Amino acid sequence: MTELRLEGVSKRYGGSGDGMETTETVGDATVALRDVDLTVRDGEFFTLVGPSGCGKTTTLRTIAGFEEPTAGRVAFDGDSMAGVPPEERDVGIVFQSYALFPHMSVAENVGYGLRFRDPPAGTTADERVADLLELVDLEGMGERSPDQLSGGQQQRVALARALAPEPDLLLLDEPMSALDAQLRESLRRQLVRIQSELEITTVYVTHDQAEALAISDRVAVMRDGRVEQVGRPQEIYREPDTRFVAEFVGDNNVFDGEIVARDGDRAQVSIDGTETTVELAGLPGADARSDGSGATAAGATDRLESGRICFCVRPGALSRTIEQNQFVVTVETAEFLGEQVRVHGRWNDVPIVLRLADVPDEGSELTVGFAPEDAHVVDLDVERA
Ligand code: ATP
Repeated sequence: MTELRLEGVSKRYGGSGDGMETTETVGDATVALRDVDLTVRDGEFFTLVGPSGCGKTTTLRTIAGFEEPTAGRVAFDGDSMAGVPPEERDVGIVFQSYALFPHMSVAENVGYGLRFRDPPAGTTADERVADLLELVDLEGMGERSPDQLSGGQQQRVALARALAPEPDLLLLDEPMSALDAQLRESLRRQLVRIQSELEITTVYVTHDQAEALAISDRVAVMRDGRVEQVGRPQEIYREPDTRFVAEFVGDNNVFDGEIVARDGDRAQVSIDGTETTVELAGLPGADARSDGSGATAAGATDRLESGRICFCVRPGALSRTIEQNQFVVTVETAEFLGEQVRVHGRWNDVPIVLRLADVPDEGSELTVGFAPEDAHVVDLDVERA
């Protein structure tokens, strides 16, 4: 059992100087991580999610010991890992490409991890391999060679191999991305089952926000080498701190505007580029600042006081039957999803996404509204220092 901590971890590839520059590339150096603080709790399924290049893999490689941080530290159960090579870190790793040894049988692949480590007390290596093949639902397949397995089966062998020496920490880097959608879903369910059965501290990397929400205890959303927000899936989805998180995680409608009147947690907001004023409720106020709810809430409050506001409304909260906060959307495209239709349109310059039961005509105009309570205020997208 292990708690993992990253404290002020920065990573720069290439270049020479010592300071952490603020621009993306400085000469031939790339700043991949900037002052990352993360705590992954004992037994937790923790996911790093973010767009390509945001630093997910670098974070994982730094945890594994393939990269040394340029600044900051990585600690397992409070012990600094500085200078500890990967093979002494007790981590199991699964990569996107299965990287099985093609000339070895499935059982030999799984047993490979035990060449350098003893099997858990009370078991022989053969018993351990058999147990793991059972765990990943591949009993009886030990004698096959990897090329006789499907992609999903190969990835389960890779998982079994990573787990064989009973590592303290399991690291998974986009392990499903080479699989088709259906396989991915079934492997995902197996992975969640195995992880909770073993209660192994797990860090999972994906660029797929839906996958992150579906499988994780907690999620860290990364952007440009920084952690933008950490929280349970519901928190990340329902209470994004920033515009970036609001837009990256699930569909969302983001509005910018000016507060024209304020009364406690309610406000009248004039939406930029429109003639429309909407009413919002449940706004962060003086309370949000003093209850220790964090810098971001306070940041949002500061923004509210300055008169500018940014808020989001989920597609599901926009409805043709709500008579408050109405506006007219011009339909651009519609995607039939089975249960629902996802409609993309525009209200003046504001892109709008909403859900309908039926496919609307392209170019048609729909009047939709939202309840004041369904707006969620986020930080303005200020340039971060
Ligand atoms: P992806 O989802 O595309 O795999 P990622 O979020 O995992 O992206 P990283 O692979 O961690 O991102 O890369 C972060 C940044 O560091 C990128 O700008 C990348 O180009 C750069 N980078 C990564 N590895 C190296 C390296 N070995 N040398 C130089 N730059 C690197």
